[in-house]
Amino acid sequence: MNYLTKIFIGACVVCTMILGITFLAAKRQRQQRSQPILYQDNINQLKELCRTKYQQSLRYLAYANFARRDSAHLAAELFNAMSHADAIHHANCRHAIEALGGKYTQPLTTPTQFSHTTTHLKNALHSKITTHCNQMPLYIEQALSDNNRYIARMLTWCDASDVKQILLLNTLLNDSTTPHHHTFKVCPTCGDITWESIATRHCPKCMTDSAQFFVIKLSKE
Ligand SMILES: [Zn+2]
Repeated sequence: MNYLTKIFIGACVVCTMILGITFLAAKRQRQQRSQPILYQDNINQLKELCRTKYQQSLRYLAYANFARRDSAHLAAELFNAMSHADAIHHANCRHAIEALGGKYTQPLTTPTQFSHTTTHLKNALHSKITTHCNQMPLYIEQALSDNNRYIARMLTWCDASDVKQILLLNTLLNDSTTPHHHTFKVCPTCGDITWESIATRHCPKCMTDSAQFFVIKLSKE
């Protein structure tokens, strides 16, 4: 075999490889384009919830700082716990969106308007009830009808935490005998808020060891 023949055969092999790679890449691209994104309804709903949770988390942190300056220590601790819980829900929703093949971008935020702490408690209560009644039943139902139990479970954790937050906000607004101090704990996995001095060793929602819970303590000014 002479030198020119070797070059010719080598060139043929290289060309065949390039054609093969190009063909496979084009085929994969065509498959991706023609394949509909599964769970598109879930992804859109999760994006909406994710934005809500992000805004709530920031707002409650601002409310907590305001309540502390207002010497409303229990409200400050509750807002702090709620901010932690909603940040966990936001992270869970974001992770779920990406796991389903969607993309999420952080929403723009507007500055928090400050009022009296009681007004903040009422605003937070209204916001939580709206999410619990208008968004969550629809979203959980959609996930269950899609047989997507991963999303349904994550949303149920989120809703269960919101229900506890509604009860706590109601207690602060309506019960004048509320003790002046609570230590709130937040589960880092599902965002469950607990305040009992005697509690189960593991989170009753997601089984996370209670040793990993965030303990909400206000820093002294
Ligand atoms: Zn948990």
